[in-house]
Amino acid sequence: MRKITIAIDGFSSTGKSTVAKQLASALGYVYVDSGAMYRAVTLYAMQNGFIDADCLDAEGLVAQLDQIKIDFQFNKDLGYAEVYLNGSNVEKAIRSLEVSQCVSQVATISEVREQLVKQQQNFGKDKGVVMDGRDIGTVVFPDAELKLFMTASAEKRAQRRYDELIERGDEVTYEEVLKNVQSRDHIDSTREDSPLSMANDAVKVDNSKMSLNEQFEFVLKLSQEKIKA
Ligand code: C5P
Repeated sequence: MRKITIAIDGFSSTGKSTVAKQLASALGYVYVDSGAMYRAVTLYAMQNGFIDADCLDAEGLVAQLDQIKIDFQFNKDLGYAEVYLNGSNVEKAIRSLEVSQCVSQVATISEVREQLVKQQQNFGKDKGVVMDGRDIGTVVFPDAELKLFMTASAEKRAQRRYDELIERGDEVTYEEVLKNVQSRDHIDSTREDSPLSMANDAVKVDNSKMSLNEQFEFVLKLSQEKIKA
């Protein structure tokens, strides 16, 4: 069966990673969470003093980019790959609201993007990959056979992210999560380098009113059609 590349882009907390994991598992493909890579660089910046009271030392961070090693290791129990920063599992640490509040700023740095995009393209060089992010269908894999662009209302997305954070025990309010979702959407869509935008050949999936199952069946059918085409 021929293998294809599936690129999933969209606004924050639109359920990209859920659908990407479902597709990867159904098709036997590798799933790569590109946002986790930007989050890992952000965590490194926070741990090493490059982010301080809302101020980002981009130059200092760029000078140390060659010291940041990001890997994914498949966790059999979870059924997906977890992200490692310089050998440590940071899967939980990168999902905190603190990292979410800084990551979009870090993701505006062109040198950071250049390095991560190269690594992402390398992960997908043999196809059979599902990758989600903001620039996957436009910059990382412009020739991907299937491109999805996910959307949902900001309130719906904030509620989903809030539920996730509460479930893992974080102390956050719905209002601060909504503010973060809106602020990331704004920075991601207006930055100069690789802004979030829908590729011309992407299929838009608005899941505000779709169940997880309906959404999965819809995208699985699209994938199977592309594989057979
Ligand atoms: O996907 P996730 O919400 O975890 O991504 C975190 C942030 O990383 C996004 O808000 C965006 O600023 C950045 N990002 C990006 N390009 C990608 C993936 C994520 O700029 N391909």
